[in-house]
Amino acid sequence: NKVQLQQSERVKLIGEMAASVAHEIKNPLTVVMGFTQILKGDKNLTARQLSSLELIDSELKRAETIIYDYLSFAKSKPVEVEKLNIMEVVNNVVEVTKYHAQLFSVVLKNETHGNYCVKANRSELTQVFLNIVKNGIEAIEKDGEITINFRILGRYIEINIIDNGKGMSEKEVSLLGIPYHSTKEHGTGLGMMVCYKIINSLKGELNVRSKQGVGTTFSIVLPLAGK
Ligand code: ADP
Ligand code: MG
Repeated sequence: NKVQLQQSERVKLIGEMAASVAHEIKNPLTVVMGFTQILKGDKNLTARQLSSLELIDSELKRAETIIYDYLSFAKSKPVEVEKLNIMEVVNNVVEVTKYHAQLFSVVLKNETHGNYCVKANRSELTQVFLNIVKNGIEAIEKDGEITINFRILGRYIEINIIDNGKGMSEKEVSLLGIPYHSTKEHGTGLGMMVCYKIINSLKGELNVRSKQGVGTTFSIVLPLAGK
């Protein structure tokens, strides 16, 4: 009805506004971070000045992470849903996170292939895979593996992101998706919230299986788009 429509229009508008604000903030943030690095290189700094600069740097990184988890691919225009090859989205995320993975000696194994389409917004779906792969990399202290594979379940596709990181307890699994719940020093606790929100809006499912000391599997199930 009319009231509900207004409500969803409002939610959409807030999303678009947040995206454009994030874009505007990214540039000045990068500039300030750059100058902070330069200042930190000054050899005549007192201990107090240096520790202030460390604090500025760490808070800037936090602000950057919030934008990254929440809106890295967001566009400040209406969210358009299109028919897209989900493997293309996965490949793109693997490309983007490769360097980050290498840095932590994590091997990314992409076993997806073929041409399977879902109806989704490209930026949003990219954000989902990005946040889950990034969490996987961060769960592996060093020398680990992330495998991405898939299977077809009738009219659905399931994509699995499997890491052999530190895993989660049942309690930790139950807290996934709660805003600002994070076990990381510079964590936002927004990454999983965004994933659940987007997958729900696509009438899909996001399932988790995890074992402490063994690893975690995130499974994304989405309806396939017909021809
Ligand atoms: P953040 O990454 O900023 O902490 P997220 O919402 O992405 O926020 O994740 C919330 C929490 O869920 C993380 O702090 C971590 O404790 C846990 N988590 C998420 N993914 C994994 C994973 N693959 N392995 C282990 N723990 C995870
Ligand atoms: Mg995260």
